Amino acid sequence: MTAPFRATVLTLYPEMFPGPLGLSLAGRALETGAWSLEARNIRDHATDRHRTVDDTPAGGGPGMVMRADIVAAALDAATPEGDARPRLLMSPRGAPLTQARVRTLAAGPGAVILCGRFEGVDERVIEARGLEEVSIGDYVLSGGEIAALVLLDAAVRLLPGVMGGAESGTEESFENGLLEYPHYTRPREWEGRAIPPVLLSGDHGAIARWRRAEAERITRARRPDMLGG
Ligand code: SAH
Repeated sequence: MTAPFRATVLTLYPEMFPGPLGLSLAGRALETGAWSLEARNIRDHATDRHRTVDDTPAGGGPGMVMRADIVAAALDAATPEGDARPRLLMSPRGAPLTQARVRTLAAGPGAVILCGRFEGVDERVIEARGLEEVSIGDYVLSGGEIAALVLLDAAVRLLPGVMGGAESGTEESFENGLLEYPHYTRPREWEGRAIPPVLLSGDHGAIARWRRAEAERITRARRPDMLGG
């Protein structure tokens, strides 16, 4: 067996973890050791009596900024020499998270994830520790924790043995450059709506063609950008 996926999250709110990832698929996988999660409190690396982690922005302006020295101490303590895991900073300025990036992460040794709070993190620690900024979308959250949960949820479900059917990972939205085709299950008729007859035909070739055509139709209508137009 390959070494389990190791996640380390640096946060001011370690109580938020595992949170929803302690339930369902991800929670079971945590119990069986398919992955591990360690939430570390950045505040443990504060150096003053008040355990301060932030300060006012240089140049003025609203809010507070997480201090480079405290964040670096937290990162360094969490990543011993030779730790090959990518170091990510959840950030609205980051590269938008994609299924392709999630797949690469899931195939690797894990991730060290820094969760921002306040206005964000002193730029110098981002540079000095080579943090990869990752965004979960074009909107602003109050902190990186929920973004980290999103990223980990997406990665953990791809780990070997976590999802039931091996195939359900490959047919999904984004995996083949398309959104997924629609799903149906019993009853055959519901509120006057029937399941598309082809799905009940038993003709696997016809079903595959119908699904492909539906996936293309939905992608064209909702996400033309995915088709390069
Ligand atoms: N002032 C910043 C927003 C700070 S929000 C700006 O305008 O860009 C506080 C923290 O929440 C961020 O440091 C980041 O860790 C997290 N966060 C907010 N929105 C996010 C998003 N879309 N994706 C990932 N992390 C996000």
